[in-house]
Parts: sequence; C-alpha cells; structure tokens
Amino acid sequence: MSTLRATTLAGTDIQLDSAAVTAFKARLHGALVCPEDPPYEQARKVWNGMIDKHPALIARCTGVADVLHTVQFARTHEIPIAMRCGSHNAAGHATCDGGIVADLTPMKGMRVDAAQRRVHAQGGVLWGEFDRETQVYGLGTTGGAVNDTGIAGLTLGGGIGWLMSQYGLACDNLVSADVVTAEGEVITAGCDRSAALNCHLSVAL
Ligand SMILES: Cc1cc2nc3c(=O)[nH]c(=O)nc-3n(C[C@H](O)[C@H](O)[C@H](O)COP(=O)(O)OP(=O)(O)OC[C@H]3O[C@@H](n4cnc5c(N)ncnc54)[C@H](O)[C@@H]3O)c2cc1C
Repeated sequence: MSTLRATTLAGTDIQLDSAAVTAFKARLHGALVCPEDPPYEQARKVWNGMIDKHPALIARCTGVADVLHTVQFARTHEIPIAMRCGSHNAAGHATCDGGIVADLTPMKGMRVDAAQRRVHAQGGVLWGEFDRETQVYGLGTTGGAVNDTGIAGLTLGGGIGWLMSQYGLACDNLVSADVVTAEGEVITAGCDRSAALNCHLSVAL
C-alpha cells in the first residue's frame, strides 16, 4: 500500500499509518477503497457533478459493525467522516476532502412487516428500492419523488413526497432508528425499540 495522506479535523495534513489502515481493512466486511484503487474515481463521485472532493478512504459498509469500525477509525485518527446513502445532497455532504466516507450503499437489507405496517430498512436503500418491496404488500409511505434518492438522507431532512398530504412528511413516519453515535456507541433511538418506518396502505394501488 502506498503512502496515504489525510487531513485532520484541525486541518493538518498527516500520513496515515499503513499498519493501522491494513488492520482497519481486515476488520471491515465491505471493501476499503483507497485513492490508488481503480474503483476510487467512480466511488468518490456524488450526484452533484460540481462536487469534486477527494476522501482519503472510502469504506463500503455492509452492516452496523462496518459503520462502527469506520466511526472508530475516524475518531482515532481525528479525521472527518461523511455518511453516504443516495448521495443526493446538493452541497456534497456525502463526501469530504481528506477524511473518510462511510458509504452505506451496499446496505440494501429490507423487511416488510405487513401485519404491523412497518418496514425495517438499512441505510443504503433508495426510494425506488423501498417502493418496490412495499408495493408487493400494497403498502407505501411518504418518500422521494425520484427513485434514486436515499431513504436516510431524505428522511433526515424531513422528506416531502407524493403521499404527504395524507400521511405527513417522511420523518413523521419514522418509528425508530439504529444509530451509531460519534462516540462509537450503537443505540436504538425512538419510543419503539425496533428500527422501522411506518407504512400505509398505498393510495396508488
Ligand atoms: C434529484 C433529486 C430529487 C429529490 N427529490 C426530493 C423529494 O422528492 N423530496 C424531498 O424531500 N427531497 C428531495 N430531494 C432532496 C433530498 O431529500 C436531499 O438531497 C437528501 O439529503 C438526499 O438524501 P440522500 O440519502 O440521497 O443523500 P446523501 O447525500 O447520501 O445524504 C444526505 C445527507 O444525509 C447524511 N446521511 C445519509 N445517510 C446517513 C446516515 N445513515 N446517517 C447519518 N447521516 C446520513 C449525509 O451525510 C448527507 O449529509 C431531492 C434531491 C435530488 C438531487
């Protein structure tokens, strides 16, 4: 592995210890993409083509454990971290210069609990993928008008969509969420202890 450079939260240019990066890579279930790797150029792109940031590392997370390891790596080395779902944030907040991207796009797990009208979905699911699964059960909720917006970023911003006049914003339908805190803890936030989105009988069916 060639020399990896990063920029700390204080703005200092540092060289990342290659042994620490190798150990981090070994702990990840998903791929760790470095600037020298062929997928890097594509992996660093976000929806807004005017954003041209160069993260030191891109961690393709496959589950909560990968997200946790990525947060811990960023903390240890005091480098910025950016979370990525659909990458639609126009300001490019799903990436960063010199830090690490926790790319949740491999996290596509979803389970529809039709009896409870709830969906358990991972942080890399896009609205088109969400709708495809819920419509099998005749269910739907307020989501993005465009298929490839991420469920995480849109819901965190409130989330307006086709069903909002009847069911409110996307965030109104969020029951709970599994959260990895900046301190490296995993908590389930919400009054209900299972991470889920409420779903309604779709008016479109
Ligand atoms: C083509 C297009 C159509 C759109 N349509 C709609 C619409 O119909 N309704 C609407 O309300 N908005 C819409 N938006 C705006 C959209 O909701 C926001 O841009 C939103 O931030 C995109 O979420 P994302 O997951 O796709 O993007 P990202 O850029 O991946 O994420 C957005 C923000 O959330 C953070 N984030 C993502 N995942 C996590 C996570 N798991 N944990 C913590 N932070 C996280 C990111 O770091 C970033 O700051 C649209 C945007 C575009 C570009």
